[in-house]
Amino acid sequence: MSSRYEPVIGLEVHAQLLTKSKIYCGCPVAYGEEPNTLVCPVCLGLPGSLPVLNERAVEMAVKTGLAMGCSIAPESVFSRKNYFYPDAPRNYQISMYDRPLCGEGRLEFEFEGERRVVCIERIHLEDDAGKLVHVEGGGSLVDFNRCGVPLIEIVSGPDMRSPGEAAAYLTMLRRLLRWLGVCDGNMEEGSLRCDVNISIRPEGSTTLGTRTEIKNLNSIKAVEMGIRWEMERQRRVLEGGGEIIQVTNLWDAAKKRLVTMRRKEYAHDYRYFPEPDLLPLTVEAGRVKVIGEKLPELPLDREKRFRDEYGLSAYDVAVLCAERGVSDYFEETAALAGDAKTVSNWIMREVLGEMKNTGGCIEEFPLTPPMLAGLLELVARGAISGSAGTDVFREMIRTGDDAGAVVEQLGLEQISGEEDLARIVDETIAAHPEEAARCREGRTQLIGFFVGQVMKRSRGKANPKLTGEIIRKKLEG
Ligand SMILES: [Zn+2]
Repeated sequence: MSSRYEPVIGLEVHAQLLTKSKIYCGCPVAYGEEPNTLVCPVCLGLPGSLPVLNERAVEMAVKTGLAMGCSIAPESVFSRKNYFYPDAPRNYQISMYDRPLCGEGRLEFEFEGERRVVCIERIHLEDDAGKLVHVEGGGSLVDFNRCGVPLIEIVSGPDMRSPGEAAAYLTMLRRLLRWLGVCDGNMEEGSLRCDVNISIRPEGSTTLGTRTEIKNLNSIKAVEMGIRWEMERQRRVLEGGGEIIQVTNLWDAAKKRLVTMRRKEYAHDYRYFPEPDLLPLTVEAGRVKVIGEKLPELPLDREKRFRDEYGLSAYDVAVLCAERGVSDYFEETAALAGDAKTVSNWIMREVLGEMKNTGGCIEEFPLTPPMLAGLLELVARGAISGSAGTDVFREMIRTGDDAGAVVEQLGLEQISGEEDLARIVDETIAAHPEEAARCREGRTQLIGFFVGQVMKRSRGKANPKLTGEIIRKKLEG
């Protein structure tokens, strides 16, 4: 990309709401079931069937809107968006058009060390379409299980100015949706999908160029790559004296390139009209207030509080607060174990490391906060060494036992008796006569070597501080 152009980027994100049932009928929502087993006349749009709005979906949409500071419309209207597509059996989608549920708001996030704010233009409710399954050798089958799954569409303003910033916005949005418990954020399974609108303009210009759309972006990486690709394509067109045409591009994740799908549609192509089978949606102020009072502490607020309250570094706080569950786990453990920095270290290294290895989630982590606190307490008062602590941690995961029980089973109580330690130190010195001689001649950095050897000989059970003192006494004279 030549530095003479800058992109103007806006994102439309479709997020699948974590309701148990669909948005206009009682069919269950589930991923990976046998095709066409989760369907009824309503979600198939059979004649005579009538949609009934799922109030849980409304609540989740309002919750999301409030978390982003959106205005909540006292009355919003469902519209029919008419189009033909083989996986949409009604030939229209029940969406919201000119009167969405949530109006203007904002999303704050950090990008390249700076606080950025992107305007949210609207959030509205709609249903998902089914899925085409292309058969090898030709032909397509259609699975309607996903028809009627509740979605919110979150439309940002054209506020982003680089691929990286768009990626940072989407990362924060995904984190917030997961934090609120309204969407699992799984982009591979399609529960979070992103379309990008993009134009480029000469740097310093304030007019907007013609924009194109990229659809089918199923990872944050793909969003960045797709934007880069399209910026470059538009630049070549403009510099070649051409004109940008409004088109919709598809991102081919396998080939890492864009494919132009069709001329971009305009709203009038869809012939929107108010959905006759659903009354306008009224959300009273009292209900908005109740939902607002149940909002959890939001990620950036919690990060700030963790820095102020526990004195943790920005890096620690960002890792701990990436997920609400992990930050809850930290706070519960810190409340029991006291030293927040130690708790943070153990969670970042051991707990998150274990979760990464096993692919588990914090809610199902085998060590509860009281169990981890119990272990840290044994380390803190010197009953076991830090390195023995990690062994105990692993054994606790394997057996589900408390720290005290594991220490007893493994015989890991730290050796703090001076007599016992002195004996091990003597054995160690005898085993390394050359090093001992050099140490006596003044090479005191070898003290560390001897502490290490004693730890090894005692299988990590020696009290390191006391061991160091004894060695010093014996070798420094
Ligand atoms: Zn149904």
